[in-house]
Amino acid sequence: MAEKHTVHWFRKGLRLHDNPSLRHGLKGAKTFRCIFILDPWFANASNVGINKWRFLLQCLEDLDRSLMKLNSRLFVIKGQPADILPKLLKEWGTTCLTFEEDPEPFGRVRDQNIMAMCKGMNITVISHVAHTLYKLERIIEKNGGKAPLTYHQFQSVIARMEDPPIPDSPVTSAIIGEAVSPISDDHDDKYGVPTLEELGFDVEGLLPGVWPGGESEALSRLERHLERKAWVASFGKPKMTPQSLLPSQTGLSPYLRFGCLSTRLFYYQLNDLYRKIKKAIPPLSLHGQVLWREFFYCAATKNPNFDRMIGNPICVQVPWDKNPEALAKWANGQTGFPWIDAIMTQLREEGWIHHLARHAVACFLTRGNLWISWEEGMKVFEELLLDADWSVNAGMWMWLSCSSFFQQFFHCYCPVRFGRKADPNGDYIRKYLPILKNFPTKYIHEPWNCPATVQKASKCIIGTDYPLPMLNHSLVSKHNIERMKQVYLQLMKFRQPGISLSLNSESSTERTKKTEESIYEENIFAPPASTFRGSLNKK
Ligand code: FAD
Ligand code: MG
Repeated sequence: MAEKHTVHWFRKGLRLHDNPSLRHGLKGAKTFRCIFILDPWFANASNVGINKWRFLLQCLEDLDRSLMKLNSRLFVIKGQPADILPKLLKEWGTTCLTFEEDPEPFGRVRDQNIMAMCKGMNITVISHVAHTLYKLERIIEKNGGKAPLTYHQFQSVIARMEDPPIPDSPVTSAIIGEAVSPISDDHDDKYGVPTLEELGFDVEGLLPGVWPGGESEALSRLERHLERKAWVASFGKPKMTPQSLLPSQTGLSPYLRFGCLSTRLFYYQLNDLYRKIKKAIPPLSLHGQVLWREFFYCAATKNPNFDRMIGNPICVQVPWDKNPEALAKWANGQTGFPWIDAIMTQLREEGWIHHLARHAVACFLTRGNLWISWEEGMKVFEELLLDADWSVNAGMWMWLSCSSFFQQFFHCYCPVRFGRKADPNGDYIRKYLPILKNFPTKYIHEPWNCPATVQKASKCIIGTDYPLPMLNHSLVSKHNIERMKQVYLQLMKFRQPGISLSLNSESSTERTKKTEESIYEENIFAPPASTFRGSLNKK
């Protein structure tokens, strides 16, 4: 039998636990190399912020350390996969290439090309699903060939499926067995993890990261997360407190995004804990949040236009305004609404914001106030959010802008009232907008109403040291609700009869209030009463 020489290509899935592709590649191998391809072009592109690069490099350093303990190393390669990969595979006499299956449409196309190339080179390719709980095609198949577009429908499909695969155990020396990694003396020079400076970033003034990247950190966070759940022991939806706006020791989203943590491990550890405490079979709802992730992945996997309006069959075509100046104010935290500006500052400085904070700024940019396309907001999140995920990010932006999945446009978050509820003492605002730190709590959410003498005493003059509000929320939001109503009225002309849509904002005020209340209290969005599908161009 010919010798097996394996290369495992890390992209997402930056971990040694639950890595079925890598394990498969190690079986019977004589040599193995774990690689990560860094495209230097991306380092210069503005669509990935410095916090995300730092997080990624920390993930790679952690992998390298873990591989060292197994007498191996990580090989970081600079270049473009399609150029560099065939050269290296040839040079190394590779017979087997392994990688985690990519659930996103563009990743799929890239991988198909790589597979075709490998076929030509007589290299076996092994690729397993591990970024999501399920193989997404299976869900689509079970739903009659279409991705479920309501969470309700999604859950009922999942309920009919077998449980997700049990996570694979971590790679150990025993699993590596006889396989060796050929490491040269100049490995660090040739294949070491670069620093931010080496990638050309200016790190002067860069704040210390509050989200350390890597599998080791992810696993200890998972442990803490489960401890907290155990302590709560109720599995009720977590209540939001002003504390939850701050970066927490248990937040998992960046780790799930980069695959430092396996979703399946998370899923099964929650199950085990539930069994232990409740002595009962865990309900599907225990996994609410990760299932939402799965839901968006599934909705996007076959839709290459999921991240744009045009050509996206599930997106309502709303005639948004183009307003680069307003967009820049929003993106840079200069709207004059402290709650919004504090959130955008936290996002830029730290790379993570709370779910409801995301609601607040997304609604503000789109249907609530600025009437700017969700695509613009999504791009800013993509650049700055550590957990930005092609599928989830686009899906949630469509949701918040009433472009898909959700249609309760008669309800807008008020940037003052919502802020007061989430941050009653204004501590969050003071932390991220220190210029306002001396403002009395009474005025901190609407500093423009603060008497001039108090502004002076607070050493911050509104309009000079901090901007005046860029618009009148109550006027603008009423106008926008009306505009959205017109969009939906137009749409209804194209709808099949029998699907009703409440457009009466009077009678829905009560319901509206309840929606905001329940979203706030439960720290999760309720599934929509009915979900709209289709677009203006579609019959
Ligand atoms: P937890 O509440 O502890 O949930 C555990 C995990 O479940 C999360 O880490 C995440 O992977 C998943 N999850 C939680 N909420 C959702 C949700 N609503 N939809 C899908 N998955 C969810 N989440 C992302 O992971 N990537 C994104 O790009 C993203 N973009 C968003 C954009 C907007 C406009 C909004 C409103 C929300 C977005 N979210 C996104 C969802 C959510 O805000 C974050 O997943 C959550 O705040 C992460 O914090 P956590 O790890 O403490 O989550
Ligand atoms: Mg959380």
